[in-house]
Amino acid sequence: MNKIATKQVVLLHHHLAALRLPTMGSECEKIAHRAAADNADHLAFLLQLTELELLERERRAAERRLKAARLPVMKSLETFDFAARPSVNKPMLTQLARCEFIDARENVLFVGNPGTGKSHLAISLAAAACAKGYRVRFHRVTELVTYLIEARDERTLVGLRSRLGKLDLLVLDEFGYVPASKVGAEMLFDVISTAYERTSLIVTTNLPFESWTEVLGSERLTGATLDRLTHRCQIIETKGESYRLRDAKARLTKGQDGPSGKGSSSVPEAPVEGGAENS
Ligand code: ADP
Ligand code: MG
Repeated sequence: MNKIATKQVVLLHHHLAALRLPTMGSECEKIAHRAAADNADHLAFLLQLTELELLERERRAAERRLKAARLPVMKSLETFDFAARPSVNKPMLTQLARCEFIDARENVLFVGNPGTGKSHLAISLAAAACAKGYRVRFHRVTELVTYLIEARDERTLVGLRSRLGKLDLLVLDEFGYVPASKVGAEMLFDVISTAYERTSLIVTTNLPFESWTEVLGSERLTGATLDRLTHRCQIIETKGESYRLRDAKARLTKGQDGPSGKGSSSVPEAPVEGGAENS
């Protein structure tokens, strides 16, 4: 490369950096050589370069959204064994992973015993939403209540509420494992009612609706919470026994027994036991 060409390349890199087009900067020479070898015209060259910049930008943005969502682990529908959980309808979950429920500001509620895949499914939908460009945040309910109370004490509640308000999807995992204090229950209700018709919620719980009062403390608050949460909501029951237990048993007995229960209805089954498992 002669001196003038070298100077031009240096300037070009500078301009592209100033325009915040890093991928075009790092790829322009390689693509230019390839375009010359392929006899591609200038516009085709520019098209390829801008496409690379856009793709890389989208990849980085998706990565940032996934990080901001703070998912506890990565899960996907591909790794969910639907045959092991017949009460969960695969086409329905595949449809939910398209995230139209988020555009419609609808909620999704997963109800079932510990270990039946509620968090797995909630995380899978949250990850799908991140990939599609939605702003998502995952919280275990007890952790969110703690944050809310801390924020109130430190007078930063307005900031926390505003961050929650900017979300497209808020996942509230493990509703019902620990009863909330009176103030905790009221703050949780505040989050749920603020989200109503603005932010979609995915809630996972081991509790049937009739037991929600045990967590929220008052009938009035429970009624108001359920009213908002279930107004436009898909309820999915993960019926049957724990996948971990089943897995362990299968390993012992070479897996003859599968989970029982079929179909998906809008009313949770009889009270589900075992609130202590930390999953
Ligand atoms: P829950 O939230 O209902 O207590 P989890 O979603 O945490 O249950 O599931 C417990 C573990 O079992 C997780 O590691 C999860 O990935 C796995 N698991 C549960 N159900 C299934 C399933 N049907 N297919 C594959 N893995 C499953
Ligand atoms: Mg869970």
